[in-house]
Amino acid sequence: MALTGLDIFKLLPKTNCKDCGNPTCLAFAMALAASKTSIENCPHISEEAKETLGGASAPPIKLVKVGKEGYARELGDEVVLFRHDKTFYHPTCFAVEISDTLTGDALTAKVEKVNSLTFERVGELVSIDMIAVRNDSGSPEAFEIAVKAVAEKTCFATVLISEDPAAMEKGLAVIGTSKPLIYAATEANYEKMVDLAKKFDCPLVVKGDGLEATAALVEKVAASYKELVIDTGTRALSQALAEITQIRRLAIKKRFRPLGYPVIAFTASDDPKEEVLEASVYAAKYASIVVLKADEKSQILPLMAQRMNIYTDPQKPSQVEPKVYAIGAATKESPVYVTTNFSLTYYTVEGEISGSKIPSYIIACPTDGTSVLTAWAAGKFNGDKIAEFMKECGIDSVVDHKNIVIPGYVAVIKGALEEKSGWKVMVGPAEASGLPAFAKSYFA
Ligand code: SF4
Repeated sequence: MALTGLDIFKLLPKTNCKDCGNPTCLAFAMALAASKTSIENCPHISEEAKETLGGASAPPIKLVKVGKEGYARELGDEVVLFRHDKTFYHPTCFAVEISDTLTGDALTAKVEKVNSLTFERVGELVSIDMIAVRNDSGSPEAFEIAVKAVAEKTCFATVLISEDPAAMEKGLAVIGTSKPLIYAATEANYEKMVDLAKKFDCPLVVKGDGLEATAALVEKVAASYKELVIDTGTRALSQALAEITQIRRLAIKKRFRPLGYPVIAFTASDDPKEEVLEASVYAAKYASIVVLKADEKSQILPLMAQRMNIYTDPQKPSQVEPKVYAIGAATKESPVYVTTNFSLTYYTVEGEISGSKIPSYIIACPTDGTSVLTAWAAGKFNGDKIAEFMKECGIDSVVDHKNIVIPGYVAVIKGALEEKSGWKVMVGPAEASGLPAFAKSYFA
């Protein structure tokens, strides 16, 4: 059970020395109870109190790392149930399954296909995160061969799926130094799997049978090993969703330690569309890893887009660097458009201008990542501000003319911008989708 601010206060030195950055020990206690500070920030706390408070100050969901340096993924360490309460820190990882019944060219082709599941979206490169090698063959030797083939051809973090400790040991002997995720310790094998996890220093999934049995098994395993991920073993979507949500609530609201670990989920449907829906439900609430069979770009792209939306901090809109961007082989005669530096706005405009095939410049004005109308309403995208940034970004020396296109939604700023900048302002279409036709009419 979590300690309250008053419980914590009783264990502090109560000198109000302010060395922790808080005005009083009570303020520090309240901040610690709300996970807004760390116990390390009080240099005067006794070792005994530190030990007692250790549990209270530890994150409600343990941070677990999978994969080798440079390609590792972090799981867990979340502190809220809802993104608007603070933020979510570690995006759901997607792992694509590869069976060890595949061999030779078929296995190579499969790994290459999974490796290619990478996309560029709003200026970011996004991809799947892990490859899960499954010991479908039941043979430790076949598992070892498949793990080796995968390890040679991918840098993605790996999940090794086998409940047979002998097969797991073979797989770990190949890839153990790359910190794969071991799946899974069960009631039947957990002692051997814990030994392997300790030996290779790898995170371990504890797979139970329903929520209560899983919590009980996690307690047993956590007594000797704590780099854990949880699987309740449930595959029916609605039941699994209920259990994963309960795990998150119990971990965060009640500080229930046996469930304070990241969760792994598996899709079950054989229907390609349903499988994507399942994965999207788990990404929304609250799986840290989703293992899926889907390996088509058309299946993975929507999951990437959804994940980006869920894990974008609403308090920090995604932005592009405010500057002049050349689109295509732009010259001194190329047209100049102006928009805001909100990523979605910028890339929508950029996509349409690229589509027009007329090389151009885009000035992305600094509006703190807000869209055109929001920025205008907030006084960040008006004649004064745009003229100011036109000077700052040096557009005068980039082109030999003085014509600029503004978004149709802010036609009202035309006069002020002409007055402040000395440039001729053209009012473009309201929607970015109108830009190709607009460009062809005026600049082709
Ligand atoms: Fe109290 Fe420790 Fe903060 Fe000093 S540093 S005010 S003793 S909590």
